[in-house]
Amino acid sequence: MAFNESTISNNGIVRPTYIEVNLTRLTENYRAIERAVAPAKMMPILKANAYGHGLVEVARHVVSLGAAYLGVAFLEEGILLREMGISAPILVLGGIIGNQVPLFLKHDLTLTASSIEKLTQINEAAAEMGVRARVHLKIDTGMERIGVHYYNADSLLEAALNCEHCLVEGIYSHFANADTAVLQSAQIQLDRFNQVLSFYEQRGLPLPPLRHMANSGAILQLPGSHFDMVRAGILLYGVYPSDEVAKTIAARPVLSWKSRVVYFKVVLPDHPVSYGSTWQSDHMVRVVTVPVGYGDGYFRRMSGQAQVIIRGKRYPVIGRICMDQLMVNLEWDSAYNNDEVTLLGESDGQIIRCEELAEWAGTIPYEILTNINTRVSRIYLTEKKQGA
Ligand SMILES: *Cc1c(COP(=O)(O)O)cnc(C)c1O
Repeated sequence: MAFNESTISNNGIVRPTYIEVNLTRLTENYRAIERAVAPAKMMPILKANAYGHGLVEVARHVVSLGAAYLGVAFLEEGILLREMGISAPILVLGGIIGNQVPLFLKHDLTLTASSIEKLTQINEAAAEMGVRARVHLKIDTGMERIGVHYYNADSLLEAALNCEHCLVEGIYSHFANADTAVLQSAQIQLDRFNQVLSFYEQRGLPLPPLRHMANSGAILQLPGSHFDMVRAGILLYGVYPSDEVAKTIAARPVLSWKSRVVYFKVVLPDHPVSYGSTWQSDHMVRVVTVPVGYGDGYFRRMSGQAQVIIRGKRYPVIGRICMDQLMVNLEWDSAYNNDEVTLLGESDGQIIRCEELAEWAGTIPYEILTNINTRVSRIYLTEKKQGA
């Protein structure tokens, strides 16, 4: 595969441990989802440093692809995007805390209103500042996280009709179980949301223009939940939300995690490797050291299970994973200083998937991606077109 290097973060200084973000793949995944959900619009979800892929770079890229809206978890993420010159609409999905409302308004960030009190607070702040607040109402249909309960939602919808200083442009809910094989509970949540939406029809009122509910699981499995917009998270990054989910849309991983061999040595029999001396060999082996560790988000829990790819072959990580380094057993194969080490992603026909790391660490792919530390450089690549 040929690449154009478009951007190197950290002022061009690249630590030997880095993430490659394949923007061509990101585009392909984006278009595949877009085709599957049309005419619903796209809201790429960029929380947690865009699932580890880099908040600002991914935001710029999806805006260039035509994303209608961007979704982040926290106010700070929204402000950073504004400061970096992103002018697309941005919805902050999380709850509002303390006196944050004026900051939302100052940066033209869309607020999630999850109770009448919050809505009133937003309306009053907007009146005071002489602006119109963009608001999406949040309905809890079964997640029990934030949002007004579906069985109490009418009062919030009613109150929203009288907020002169708010532009209620959206209403949304969130699934607790859209990535499972059995969709009974998701269907119940969807029914509840539709019931809440009937408020408008019953009163002959226009619906808020952006109804949205679908995360990746529901994008794949519940077309009836696509409404006016979908909130595409992990699927956009080419990872499926669970093993059980129906893979109705083809998506390929965007992120690879690489490092390099910094040290080579021979280890004698009965000479244990790393903290706690948990691993030793009964014969001579060649061992290389790689400058990556749990301080980068390569979980210590994976000690004794993880593998990496060097020169097209998988080798086991041995002994405890350290904060900044780990050791790999080559048995009697060869490797040299500066050889590429693939921790996650493809190399010479081999592949290590995010799901595999998740299994070694006893977690889910989401946690693997979002824990890759910011001290790991991100490099953004686009594949060269054939013949270009
Ligand atoms: C994180 C999140 C999403 C995206 O979820 P994925 O499973 O990654 O697609 C969508 N909506 C809300 C409210 C979220 O918090």
